[in-house]
Amino acid sequence: MTLLLFLKSLQRKAEKELKEAKELKQLDDIFQKYLGKKGELTAILRSLEKLPETKRAKVGKQANNLKNLVKQRIEVKAKKMRLVKEVAKKTDWIDVTIPGRKPLAGHLHPLTQIKSQAEEVFQSIGFSVVEGPEIENEWYNFDALNIPKDHPARDAWSTFWLKDSKLLLRTHTSPVQVRYMEKNNPPLRIIVPGRIFRHEATDASHEINFYQVEGLMIDKKVSAANFKAIIQEFFKRFFGKETKIRMRPSYFPFTEPSFEVDMSCLNCRGEGCPVCSQTGWLEMMGAGMVHPTVYKATGLNPKYWQGFAFGIGMDRLAMMKYKINDIRLFYGGDLRFLNQF
Ligand SMILES: [Zn+2]
Repeated sequence: MTLLLFLKSLQRKAEKELKEAKELKQLDDIFQKYLGKKGELTAILRSLEKLPETKRAKVGKQANNLKNLVKQRIEVKAKKMRLVKEVAKKTDWIDVTIPGRKPLAGHLHPLTQIKSQAEEVFQSIGFSVVEGPEIENEWYNFDALNIPKDHPARDAWSTFWLKDSKLLLRTHTSPVQVRYMEKNNPPLRIIVPGRIFRHEATDASHEINFYQVEGLMIDKKVSAANFKAIIQEFFKRFFGKETKIRMRPSYFPFTEPSFEVDMSCLNCRGEGCPVCSQTGWLEMMGAGMVHPTVYKATGLNPKYWQGFAFGIGMDRLAMMKYKINDIRLFYGGDLRFLNQF
């Protein structure tokens, strides 16, 4: 290989290495490799004087060109690298005084919030929270509650029956009363929040599954007056001090006497508006004094014990509290709705 060809291959090698260099240290190494005391190019430059004059000029010129080229490339690239380093140093600095970005967090569903609020009120007046199964049998859901088979009252609860079994999805939370009375001796003071199911067409005020808070209080001398006082207290604490209630006679198979409880309309404060159909009152719950048949079914003697039971629709509480007019919104999973709570 002639010296000229060797210089050319040296140039290609140097150019390739320069191109690939990523750090200042590598540039330093390249400089030493070609132009340092023991550099390949330095050796050629030193040997020029030993060459015959005819070759010296040509080789000398090319070797010096290469020397300048390598030097210049190293300089340019080093400058660039230092600049990048400086900028990186500046941008790496963290301003600890900038307010942090708030991480996205979920929150409780409005019905869950209503459930805990209701639980809190009842717990503060001495009730314990009890839960029971959503899948029930006929005995707990109907018979023990004085709704025997073929009794017309069963039609009032459109039921989801489970295929090929005698099981059903509970149509109310009342079966938990029965289960609790079987296992515990009075005095009893419980509430039962939970999901219930009805085989019905849905509309603005009906869903196929919804939530109820059942209540039960049994002792030796628990009267309808006690019921009124407790429920009045509940509504005042839940909706505000001005809330009034009234009781109307009603019918349920598992209570005698039975009543319907109305609450003064929050929208018009009792003066009459479209929400309350101009009556000033809103129907909120069913209740009554526990029927003797229910005591018998659970092994308690109705001669010794008396008490009341009630069932409030949790969805209804939520609709009133947040002024929502369509129950289906609670179950639609639409974040535009849910994010407001
Ligand atoms: Zn009203």
